[in-house]
Order: sequence, then structure tokens, then C-alpha cells
Amino acid sequence: MTLLTLPKNSISSWITLLQSKYTVVGPKKQKQEYIFDTIHSASELELDYPTTILPPKKMLLPTKEELIRFNFENHQRNIKPVFNNPPTVLFGVHTCDLHAIALLDHVLNQEYPDQHYLARRKATTIVSIECLRPCSEFAFCKSMETLSVHENFDLHLTDLGDRYSLDIGSEKGAGLIKSFASVREGSGEDHQQLRKIMSEKWSNFPYRLDFDVLELPSLLSLSYNSPLWEELEKRCLACGSCNIVCPSCYCFNVIDEMDLRLHSGSRFRVWDSCQLDRFATVAGGHNFRPTQASRLRHRFFHKGKYQAESSGMVGCVGCGRCAQTCLVHISPVDIFNELYQQQTARCLTEQEAAT
Ligand code: SF4
Ligand code: SF4
Repeated sequence: MTLLTLPKNSISSWITLLQSKYTVVGPKKQKQEYIFDTIHSASELELDYPTTILPPKKMLLPTKEELIRFNFENHQRNIKPVFNNPPTVLFGVHTCDLHAIALLDHVLNQEYPDQHYLARRKATTIVSIECLRPCSEFAFCKSMETLSVHENFDLHLTDLGDRYSLDIGSEKGAGLIKSFASVREGSGEDHQQLRKIMSEKWSNFPYRLDFDVLELPSLLSLSYNSPLWEELEKRCLACGSCNIVCPSCYCFNVIDEMDLRLHSGSRFRVWDSCQLDRFATVAGGHNFRPTQASRLRHRFFHKGKYQAESSGMVGCVGCGRCAQTCLVHISPVDIFNELYQQQTARCLTEQEAAT
């Protein structure tokens, strides 16, 4: 494969060129935090960023999205779907977030393909970036095997110092650099530098799970009746922030907003959270997950077991955003490790009893 490079001092003119054809979205600083947002000037783009408050998922599955518009005035039945998917380049996606987008691509293109998501996805070209150090103290991507990517990007950047190496993942990605003169074929020195950076980066990331992630589904199966869920219930505020910041959560609610005369309006999709008590309330007022313990258990089972078993992909990509956001410090990696310790202790006790 041919290695291509792009000098960092050409990024600005590259972004300007792309802006003539696409909406360019990427990480930019807002006060003390970083967010994914439209890049109006190349100087706003911060490719060397820690993590963002909300994941890049919000560009593909907006927090509030108009699905249809309807008008019943004068006995008409006018109902139209609404699609808002301008050609977009999504810049600077970390590898964990790219794994989460791969999961969304799978889930939202199953039995009932989600037309709105798929239209946005098709119009979006993803430029991801190799993570060379942990983006936050809460990240555990190495343990979840999301610290690198081989596919699902259109173009992938690796920081080589004064230049980026470019890995083309699709025709859409190749199109982004096709007519940009500053892209060069990499030299022997570039190859050597890339190999060195890639081999050195792994030791910058700690393993934070005490066991192999492949054991997670069976560990959770054994932990359904763990007392940990009741203990966590006493701490959890049921605020739903953990779901809102998660790159791999996709549950939503649907609401209608009408005009005052109730003649016309729009139907919207809005993000929802399985940690809210009304989430599992169905007709007749029955709540099939009535306790916070059951809701917490469901969240971690979905992330660590159900998703892996149904799709073969991890449901949690180890970004650490939920742990960073949670006011009472509930963290997936702590919970998974605590369950592992409980099961290990139980096995030892059973072995001792048998001898
Ligand atoms: S785990 Fe933390 S962030 Fe999630 S609902 Fe409970 S208190 Fe809120
Ligand atoms: S569960 Fe937490 S750590 Fe895992 S992907 Fe979601 S926000 Fe990131």
C-alpha cells in the first residue's frame, strides 16, 4: 500500500478547499471543553484534542431531528418526510468513536433500516485520527479493543510530527485529497516514522479491565443476581447523563409538535435514556424495569453482553465519557472489575468447599 503524507501547514488550505463542497465538522474548543461542531474557519479545527462532551454520533443521529411534517388543514392529508443531509466531512474522529459509528451502522440498518440515519451516513465522509495517548483518565479503549481501526473510515490520519500520514479507506476518502497538490507519496523516512509511532503508542495506554473483554458476556451472565446492582441503586441519581454522552447509545423517543390550531406540525426524534424511570413504562402504566437497580443492570448488560451476542461488536467502546460525566462516579470499568472480583471470590469459595 502506498503511504501518503500531508504537511500540517497545508491543513488550513485543505479545509478551505473542502469547505467549497462540504459542510466541514470537527472538534473545536468551547471554553474549557471540546465539542464537535461546524468548522467555519480552519483555525477552529483542533485535531489534537482530548475528548469531546458529546460524541460525533450527534452529527449522524442529531439530539432532536425532524422526521416528518404534516398538514391537515382544509381536510387535506399532507404528510412529507424531512431529510436534512448536506454533504459533510466529519473530521478528527477518534478510533473509539469510529467503532461506535460502526455499531450504529449495523444496528440502524437491520430489519427496519433507519432511512434518516442512513441518508446522513451516506452523505458523510469520515476522516478519523489515530490516538497516540489516552484522551482522558477515564478512557479504557485498549481493554475494549477499540484503540485502533482497520476499516469504517474514509480517510485516516496519523500524526508524524510536522505532517500527517494518510490511509485511504474508501473512494469517498480518496476524493477528499484527489485534487489537493500538497499530498505527497511518503518517503522511506515516513514509513520508518509511522512504524515507530505505531509500535510505541501501545505502552502509553493502560489495560484497565482485570480480565479479557471476550469474557465480559459470560461474566455478566453469572452476575445477574449480584448484590452490586442494589448497591449502585443507592448511589445512582437516575439522571440519564451517562446515556446522553455515550457514542454507542441509540434509544430515542418520538414527539409531535403541533401548531396552536392543531392543523399542522412536525414529528421529531429526540434522544432518550434507559436510566430514566419512565423509559420502560408502557400502556396501562406498567413499568417493566421499575427499580433503578434493574435499569442499571440493563444498561451494563446491553453494553457488555446483549450487543456483543447479537452483533459480535462491543456495545461499549471504552471512551470513558459516562464515567467522566457521572456525578456519583459510576464507571463501567469499575463495575466490570468489581463483578469479576465477586465471581473470582465465589469460585475460590466453591473450590475450598469442594476440597
Ligand atoms: S449512572 Fe451516573 S450518569 Fe448514569 S443515571 Fe446514574 S447518576 Fe446519572
Ligand atoms: S458506556 Fe460509557 S465508556 Fe462505554 S461507550 Fe458508552 S459512554 Fe463510553
